[in-house]
Amino acid sequence: MPENAWPAGVVARYLTKAAEILGEDITVDVAEAGGRATATCRGCGSECRNDLMYANVTVLPWAIEHAETCRAMPRPTA
Ligand SMILES: [Zn+2]
Repeated sequence: MPENAWPAGVVARYLTKAAEILGEDITVDVAEAGGRATATCRGCGSECRNDLMYANVTVLPWAIEHAETCRAMPRPTA
């Protein structure tokens, strides 16, 4: 799998403020699975979840708004 491939189930990604500043790949990922939509910030770990039918009015706007303001850097894994 190419390194820049999206994880399974991810339907939208938004670069965070920190990513914009650092030029790194830190995103808020919106994933759909089992009738639920979940937005997860890969910088700070915050989440927003709702039923898929409400994703466009809750989860997506949360993901966009969070990505625009989140300056968190993920903990290094190596
Ligand atoms: Zn965040």
